[in-house]
Amino acid sequence: MKNLILALFITQGFFSCTQPSKGSANAGTTLMDNLIPDTTWTTKVEKTREEWKKILTAAQFNITREQGTEKPFSSEYEKNKETGIYYCVSCKNPLFRSTTKFDSGTGWPSFYAPYSTKSVQVSTDNSEGTSRDEISCQRCDAHLGHVFNDGPKPTGLRYCMDGVALLFQKEDINVKLSKATFAAGCFWCEEAVFESVKGVKEVISGYAGGNEENPTYEQVGSGATGHAEAIEVYYDSALVSFPSLLKVFFASQDPTQVNGQGPDNGKQYRSIAFYRNAAEKQLIEEYIGQLTKSGKYTKPIAAQVVPYTKFWQAEDYHQNYVQHNPNERYVQMESIPRLRRTQKAVPELIKPDKMVK
Ligand SMILES: [Zn+2]
Repeated sequence: MKNLILALFITQGFFSCTQPSKGSANAGTTLMDNLIPDTTWTTKVEKTREEWKKILTAAQFNITREQGTEKPFSSEYEKNKETGIYYCVSCKNPLFRSTTKFDSGTGWPSFYAPYSTKSVQVSTDNSEGTSRDEISCQRCDAHLGHVFNDGPKPTGLRYCMDGVALLFQKEDINVKLSKATFAAGCFWCEEAVFESVKGVKEVISGYAGGNEENPTYEQVGSGATGHAEAIEVYYDSALVSFPSLLKVFFASQDPTQVNGQGPDNGKQYRSIAFYRNAAEKQLIEEYIGQLTKSGKYTKPIAAQVVPYTKFWQAEDYHQNYVQHNPNERYVQMESIPRLRRTQKAVPELIKPDKMVK
């Protein structure tokens, strides 16, 4: 029966991780464990009004999509003095740093400079019988507020923002996150696995292992590049060690499968443990040695041990794919069972609230 199911997976592209995009970008209001401020994006987040309505609260929709204005002194962010980053609530584009926030006395969160040149855009707003410079998110065009010329030095600008349009993430300046990069078949599955591991703050889906620059999902999926679907794991090494991540990595797959994982075949699905230094290389090789000796596998370990060079972040709609598409066939048939299997193998390393039943 299992073989029959696998055969179905292989013959029906419909089931496969390689199916074409449905275009469902990851922008939503679900707060990720830890947002990584990304200023490398190249595509805008575009949605219909109905799509925005589904992922925003009524107040967020009113402000960001209907040019609404929140009541002064109504936002919890107005008096917020914590260190961190303010993101676009709609698309998670980083907009402002807390270090540029000041108390304007207007009742709206105010900043004197945006996070980056890709944060906001200015347009002319002639509503309410006056001409003002409207500020919107450069990535998703969400209305955010207005900008005035009466701000403090060094810019002299006052970005007067609607707190409802923002999402603040506190920065824990004491925690420096480490990075680890792995490939083991479909990145949707691996991302979901590592998102559930204690001490892991964020996992990004992308491509690694090849030399081509700016690879797309279609290029990698065709097998024409040297890249494999991969994930980059941001973790707090005080809470989870690299050897523990290796334990999760090998538990999440059949490391003896050559150029593929489960129903996904092709070298873009090969298994790779990337190392960033000699110590990590040694840890990986030792772990593979232990697995080989354990007799658990009848075939040799096929997972490659490769020096890390570069990770290319995948298109938005691949990020948090399992979380955003829990009812999709592939997710139901492959990703979730794989997540459950892995968690069962290493329960001590899983966040209790992320344990799949
Ligand atoms: Zn946005």
